[in-house]
Amino acid sequence: MLIVVALGGNALLRRGEPMTAENQRANIRRAAVVLGELVRAGHSLVITHGNGPQVGLLALQSAATPDADAFPLDVLDAESAGMIGYVIEQELGNVLPDRLFATLLTQVKVDPCDEAFSHPTKPIGPGYTEATARRLAGERGWRIAQDGANWRRVVPSPKPQTILEATVISFLVERGVIVTCAGGGGVPVIELEDGRRVGIEAVIDKDRASALLARELNADMFVMLTDVDGVYLGYGTSQAHLLERVHVRDVSGNDFPAGSMGPKVEAAIEFAKATGNPAAIGRLEDAAAIVRGGRGTRIDIGNQARAHDEGVTER
Ligand code: ADP
Ligand code: MG
Repeated sequence: MLIVVALGGNALLRRGEPMTAENQRANIRRAAVVLGELVRAGHSLVITHGNGPQVGLLALQSAATPDADAFPLDVLDAESAGMIGYVIEQELGNVLPDRLFATLLTQVKVDPCDEAFSHPTKPIGPGYTEATARRLAGERGWRIAQDGANWRRVVPSPKPQTILEATVISFLVERGVIVTCAGGGGVPVIELEDGRRVGIEAVIDKDRASALLARELNADMFVMLTDVDGVYLGYGTSQAHLLERVHVRDVSGNDFPAGSMGPKVEAAIEFAKATGNPAAIGRLEDAAAIVRGGRGTRIDIGNQARAHDEGVTER
């Protein structure tokens, strides 16, 4: 099967861990072992990943340079895809020395009129106390918002429309290359009236970009790997109940949090509806079992999905 695998933040950095090069590499090494199992099981992989903490760090570093303007977010998105993609390619290569790899910068077309540009929602960089966040917002022109117990910088997260490198990616996949791309949701670009493309300051949600990529590649499966074993109804309550195998209509009406599970469920629904193939959400360590169908939450559509449903707990 061709599987698009999206690595969540925790695959790169566990919650609360300082963002150091060593921590990042140690986590990516864990992810590489898991991804290696999928390749050994005979699957073709296209790997994507998030960049929230990394792009925020790069923005802070860039802002700290005394006599130059800070670099725009599209350039920092590209940098973050390089700093993460490099280590993924290297660690995967150490696990699978006989395979070919490519890490591609990926431009993703967005609509310049997307309402995200007037309503930034995507948290990037570290968490601050409210007072510090307000001071930084004043000094640097940031928009800020509460994220759990912390306050963070928020930036526009427009909807991805087209993956510009999709054809190149599929050429590589056809030749057996394991591709890492659309890192951090890809680099957002807009098309000007004369057809030229330019970057725009935003960070695309990696789950939405990955779902679009999986659609454009017509992947057999789309898997989002994170730090929770699947999608729960009543998450965080005593009634919490893990969804194991569900039809898209069973999750479509539910409200999952916008900053975390919401985009994953939406991305899964979009992919399943567009392709008729399953999407799944679960824990990084469970990847092989998720693909076989024994772990995580699988979101499916159509009769084929129904036929596999026996013995499965639903709501
Ligand atoms: P990633 O970096 O992998 O994208 P996110 O933080 O965006 O991770 O999303 C995973 C988190 O979503 C989990 O750690 C969990 O705390 C949170 N979450 C919110 N609602 C739910 C839910 N209904 N079911 C499972 N997890 C949920
Ligand atoms: Mg996320």
